[in-house]
Amino acid sequence: MIEFASIADGEFGEFHAFPSPRVIVNSSVPIEVQRLTLLHELLHAISELYGLGLTESQVRCIEQGLGQVMSEPDVWEFMGGRI
Ligand SMILES: [Zn+2]
Repeated sequence: MIEFASIADGEFGEFHAFPSPRVIVNSSVPIEVQRLTLLHELLHAISELYGLGLTESQVRCIEQGLGQVMSEPDVWEFMGGRI
């Protein structure tokens, strides 16, 4: 489940594996930040659910790399995003 909600100041997002996988994205930050936060929390979810054991720093690196690619308007649109 993915939820967009206002959460504590300074927090961008959260991932909880239990009782069922749930990602929360802070809806009060700019949309570009929400996109990167969703990507970041989904990477934590994938790491946890598939037992990859990614560290916070590895998650950040993948988030930044994919975020760069997805910031290209053509790529973003191809992936189904609206500009
Ligand atoms: Zn993180």
